[in-house]
Amino acid sequence: MQTFDFDLFVIGGGSGGVRAARMAAQRGARVALAEVAEMGGTCVNLGCIPKKLYSYAAHFAESFEESHGFGWVGEAPILNWNTLKTNRAREISRLNGIYVQLLKGSGVHLLEGWATLVDAHTVAVGGQHYSAQNILIATGGKPSVPDVAGGEHVITSNDIFDLSPFPQRLLVVGGGYIACEFASIFNGLGAQVTQLYRGTQVLRGFDEDVRAFIAGEMVKTGVALHLNTDVAAIERTGEGLQVRLLDGSHVTVDAVLYATGRVPLVDGLGLEAAGVKQNDAGAIQVNAQYQTSVPSIYALGDVTARVQLTPVALGEAMVVVDQLFGPAEGKAPRSMSYDFIPTAVFTHPNIGTVGYTETEASEKFGKIRVYRTDFKALKHTLSGSTERTLMKLLVEDATDRVVGLHMVGPDAGEVVQGFAVAMKAGATKAIFDSTIGIHPTLAEEFVTMREPVKG
Ligand code: FAD
Ligand code: NDP
Repeated sequence: MQTFDFDLFVIGGGSGGVRAARMAAQRGARVALAEVAEMGGTCVNLGCIPKKLYSYAAHFAESFEESHGFGWVGEAPILNWNTLKTNRAREISRLNGIYVQLLKGSGVHLLEGWATLVDAHTVAVGGQHYSAQNILIATGGKPSVPDVAGGEHVITSNDIFDLSPFPQRLLVVGGGYIACEFASIFNGLGAQVTQLYRGTQVLRGFDEDVRAFIAGEMVKTGVALHLNTDVAAIERTGEGLQVRLLDGSHVTVDAVLYATGRVPLVDGLGLEAAGVKQNDAGAIQVNAQYQTSVPSIYALGDVTARVQLTPVALGEAMVVVDQLFGPAEGKAPRSMSYDFIPTAVFTHPNIGTVGYTETEASEKFGKIRVYRTDFKALKHTLSGSTERTLMKLLVEDATDRVVGLHMVGPDAGEVVQGFAVAMKAGATKAIFDSTIGIHPTLAEEFVTMREPVKG
């Protein structure tokens, strides 16, 4: 029988790779993990965590303003951008260290460097070859920027956290998660933000009410949102970066952030050498067991370009480990369902959503009932803020099951996480109605909406 250096070789120490390596090692497997950058991947270093820290920083601006109505007196403090950057970097390096310790503590053999597939059972790192019974590709993705005249002047989300100096005038291109989040965050931090989106409304794929509502709220907070247009050319002038738009207008800014999607990170990975197939968009193709076209090579997370969220990569990693090395003691093997994945967009205010949009629900279920409310939160009766909150429920009429739940409002992600459990469990509108609210909260509105606005 052929012997291998490792039972599992993981390429990429991000959300999915770290989880898979650690869990596999805890099951007794001999595991190696190669990472070319800091441990933790996109989420820890250039995504979820630094982004959420900056979002917290940005929320203080509105809190200072709103405090006056509650009796607080005095000028708002000013932001020290360098302090924020330094504190964020310190926290991220603490997390990098924790990840390394967790992996080492589980017995994972860590390798620093770029890993390349040599064949179905061999990976090369730094000129050294390692054999493994199974290989897991968890290399994530990278920002994708379209060709544009003056493209050398643009930055991506990878560059935004450490910009120097603070961009007083920022242009954000795109209408997805990253564009909307950073438009909100930098607006909160004090930049004058212009956001351009080529389509008719931001956040394609989200519920239409949510899209229109968040766009309105972002504009109210000060984001200058331009729809149905795009960048024609960017030029550096003495005044800053002059950006000509397709509609003929100009905007002059200090930085141009392109948040126009992400593509799988597969360059130089040796996919062809090993015979691993990709789809037309470059994503690694996997079957329901996360197996690629080469049976000993698995792939998960953003490199498979399905649902690009950290908890999804984590969930997929645990399924792969259970398949390869058996489930944890006393547990059934995990499976992954892509239904009812909750998600939040950390705009100001946040979006939280789980299940189907109204359009999808009517297509899938036929007759649906739509419950919707938008209101001024109790806090804003004194704060002076004009912010409003949107809540929406979609119910399949035939079964009474709640199939869509959407919120735009403070801490929407926190609110929606709990409701996602109820929806996975198949909660009906009657169960929502029989649930006692927690008063006074925003979340109680989800259990007190009585009359449908449609259906
Ligand atoms: P990654 O975390 O990207 O890890 C891949 C790792 O592989 C990287 O560390 C990379 O250096 C390494 N690597 C690549 N190629 C090689 C190689 N050949 N050899 C060695 N190492 C290699 N998701 C959420 O759920 N919530 C959020 O709030 C959120 N915010 C985000 C904000 C931003 C700005 C971005 C960009 C993403 C955000 N995401 C968020 C998405 C989330 O970060 C990803 O879905 C998640 O990190 C994917 O995990 P992964 O394991 O597939 O890949
Ligand atoms: P998205 O796919 O969400 O959005 C990309 C945006 O760029 C869309 O508005 C798209 O427009 C636009 N776009 C694409 N190509 C072009 C082009 N050539 N010219 C102009 N505009 C273009 O990608 P993001 O980069 O925002 O984020 C990537 C993924 O990362 C997300 O989908 C999400 O899964 C994850 N993420 C999750 C977060 C969270 O959980 N809070 C936060 C950040 C990222 P159109 O719609 O017309 O195609």
